[in-house]
Amino acid sequence: MDRRELIKGVGLTTATGALGLWNVPAKSQETENTAMNGLPSVKITKVKSIVTCPHGIELIVVKVETDQPGLYGYGCATFRQRAHAVVSAIDKYLDDFCRGKSVENIEDIWQTAYVSSYWRNGPVLNNALSGLDQALWDIKGKMAGMPVYQLLGGKCRFAVDCYSHANGKSPEELVDSVQKIKENGFRHIRIQLGGYGATHMADRADFKDAGFGTPEDNYMNQQTYLKMIPVIFETVREKFGEDIELLHDIHERVQPMDAIRLIKNLEEFRPFFIEDPFSPENNGYFELLRQHTLTPIAMGELFNNPHEWLEPMSKKLFDFIRIHISQIGGITPAMKVARLGEWFNVRTAWHGPGDVSPIGHAANAHIDLAVWNFGIQEAVNFSDKLREIFPGAPYMDNGYMHINEAPGLGVDVDEKVAAKYPLPKKFNYNWTQVRMKDGTPIRP
Ligand code: MG
Repeated sequence: MDRRELIKGVGLTTATGALGLWNVPAKSQETENTAMNGLPSVKITKVKSIVTCPHGIELIVVKVETDQPGLYGYGCATFRQRAHAVVSAIDKYLDDFCRGKSVENIEDIWQTAYVSSYWRNGPVLNNALSGLDQALWDIKGKMAGMPVYQLLGGKCRFAVDCYSHANGKSPEELVDSVQKIKENGFRHIRIQLGGYGATHMADRADFKDAGFGTPEDNYMNQQTYLKMIPVIFETVREKFGEDIELLHDIHERVQPMDAIRLIKNLEEFRPFFIEDPFSPENNGYFELLRQHTLTPIAMGELFNNPHEWLEPMSKKLFDFIRIHISQIGGITPAMKVARLGEWFNVRTAWHGPGDVSPIGHAANAHIDLAVWNFGIQEAVNFSDKLREIFPGAPYMDNGYMHINEAPGLGVDVDEKVAAKYPLPKKFNYNWTQVRMKDGTPIRP
């Protein structure tokens, strides 16, 4: 059967109504080449970036257009810290590289685009590649008339179990925050004590007392942090008992030996996992960590290069792989990471913060539904503004994430609304700029 017959009339219907309906005329453009199965191939005609920043968070999406009217795909390429560089990689390089190629051959396009820069595995190029890759999976789902998780093997669970973030400037504030999240149906809750560099964790900075730095310099008292985290675990366990699972993110901002001692001391509170004990440069400490504690460990949101996860996963040095999927190049490499983890009992816990577009969250969830070794997903609630820009975005209910069952990734983009929120001229570097008490920059 002619593929154009197969794909005829398959539409994208989202929770908010019919969107992007496409209908390929049976005798439309004849294509020169054929896809691998001998049927006429669908060609890429354009790869372009779409940017939007509705809440001060720079979101980047790739749109892949094809020679079939109404058939297109979207993928997440969000790397807010270098948004303009990702946009340039998409519009100035991937567009030219992809035009005329067959949308069917995702693996081939991924492999050739991956080495097209010769030097590779950096966050800018990986994000551009992720946008392309996810958009091609979106298109493949639309062509098949199936949600992407079906193409990945179908559902292995009913919905995606998630954790949510509780935060407070004191243990008492944190308890209130945990209570609210629990009432919303969550069974897994991440507990944090304020932000890193927050004033309550940094009442005095030696370097500021000595007259160095500027008023804007953030400071973190690592010892205050190390002292307080067992206190919040004890407080929350005492208040809520064993009914909930507790998670915590160290965010790499302490010395490795201090992180190991902290994690060892938290063992009695039975954390579900402790996240990001070391910066990627300190991966070599995992073996020592494993020798000292049975606390489950999650790691990987800063990973870009396969060498950062291949050996630790194959040695079972952590229990959850927390890769940020657009930072490694999309669904194609993430599925390989997930399958690798299955054989070493490393479960997935994909990074799912606010600086992942709703399309990226949908990509996380499609994989979560399909892979056996799913662990947990970081939850997100989208604002009405984001839902207007991204119709069909996943939604939360009773601690579970649900996806739109439309073909593809199920999320569309209203490009006119997205354009109302352009990228800001200046980037706010605050998040990565925290100093020790002597003024030394802390590496996240
Ligand atoms: Mg983290």
